[in-house]
Amino acid sequence: MNNKLYGNLIFELSHEGRRGYSLPKNRFGNYEVPQQLRRAHDAELPECDEMTVVRHYTNHSANNFGVNNGFYPLGSCTMKYNPCINEEVAAMPQFAGLHPLQPKSTTAGAQAVVTLLERSLCELTGLSAFTFKPFAGAHGELTGLMVIRAYHESRGDDKRIKVIVPDSAHGTNPASAAVCGLEVVEVKSLADGTVDVEHLRTLLDDSVAAMMMTNPNTLGLFEKNIPEIAEMVHACGGLMYYDGANLNPMLGACRPGDMGFDVMHINLHKTFSTPHGGGGPGAGPVGVRKGLESFLPCVSPYQGNFAVMMRAYAYILTLGRENVKLVGPLATLNANYIKESLKDLYLLPIDGLCKHEFVFDGLKDKSTGVTTMDVAKRLLDYGYHAPTIYFPLLFHESLMIEPTENESKDTIDGFIEVMRRIAKEAVECPEDVKSAPHNTPIGRVDDVLAAKHPVVTWNQLKAE
Ligand SMILES: *Cc1c(COP(=O)(O)O)cnc(C)c1O
Repeated sequence: MNNKLYGNLIFELSHEGRRGYSLPKNRFGNYEVPQQLRRAHDAELPECDEMTVVRHYTNHSANNFGVNNGFYPLGSCTMKYNPCINEEVAAMPQFAGLHPLQPKSTTAGAQAVVTLLERSLCELTGLSAFTFKPFAGAHGELTGLMVIRAYHESRGDDKRIKVIVPDSAHGTNPASAAVCGLEVVEVKSLADGTVDVEHLRTLLDDSVAAMMMTNPNTLGLFEKNIPEIAEMVHACGGLMYYDGANLNPMLGACRPGDMGFDVMHINLHKTFSTPHGGGGPGAGPVGVRKGLESFLPCVSPYQGNFAVMMRAYAYILTLGRENVKLVGPLATLNANYIKESLKDLYLLPIDGLCKHEFVFDGLKDKSTGVTTMDVAKRLLDYGYHAPTIYFPLLFHESLMIEPTENESKDTIDGFIEVMRRIAKEAVECPEDVKSAPHNTPIGRVDDVLAAKHPVVTWNQLKAE
């Protein structure tokens, strides 16, 4: 791209008086905007011709990295394939054109989709009912914890103020519990990465409202002791909460409802292939077991992020009853294949079978000084999105990889080859890795400066 011609900022291309638009004839007669609503000065807007604007933004969009143009092995976020048929279905005017305040009698089709999606999720999870109101996973957690609180309150059991959360949990778990006004109690993990049942035993009493668990947990490991844990938590009167943000490895293999969980959320935007990133859009439906249905938020005319639900349902229908059972096994196979192919060069702190994702603790050879950050930046040079880095916090150099079930063996082999090449470069030419990326439009940015002193406006840039 010719930066001079198409510019990094649209303002740099501006010429006073140049126009890239034409307005339609005013059909409404002359209307004066009241004086008090007018600007004191003209807005400072770029003035460009149409082709310059089109090329400027098209070229910028080509700098974006997405699931549609490259492998995106971001752990804990499940960045999976977003089929175009989902978009077509979500954009059907019969659904996309609905207004939230339309009379219920005119939205039977949309309500049927909600009911069918709810039935699918109930069958996949072994739970009894779902609400679709929450707009994200974290929102679902908060809703689920409020359901649990409402359940305890309905029994006059008002001393339950504690929520037990494993130290490996996603950060939203303790945050949601705190926002819900509950006290967070951390349960330790064993060296194998799973919950320490003996430690848990010491935390249980009649002040426990719930135990939150993620399974597979944030290390990608299956929590083997769930039946025992559920029994212990239930015995002291608490409920079991399942963080099903990334339910893909479970689909077709097992169901949270059968394991003793009472309440859960699912991220439709991770598990069921709806596009996400940059904070939206999402849907975090909350499901409950039989007997808790009445504690779900009451029915209102609004149904949450409906377009996301349409996409998720399209994905479920595309797979069908038989293929949906392959999602979990394939996600698990792909992750284990990468793990086994790289563990001679990358440090695998917890060996053994993983589920849909796993965590390396940086390169095995620590003498080169090449960090996880360097590996992540070097991957960009080879056209791959970086995995999740420095999360989970249990290791210093976490590098968390999730391939998802949709990737072909060729794609995965290509990624493995590049990861092996980077490990070799770390030994032979570490400076090349430490100064990466070299082939991207922008080189290595100063993360701290960018976070603490972001330059976000044209005026600020001009002033510098
Ligand atoms: C992504 C994620 C969440 C939070 O979901 P959001 O939609 O980002 O709010 C919670 N728990 C786990 C395990 C996750 O991976």
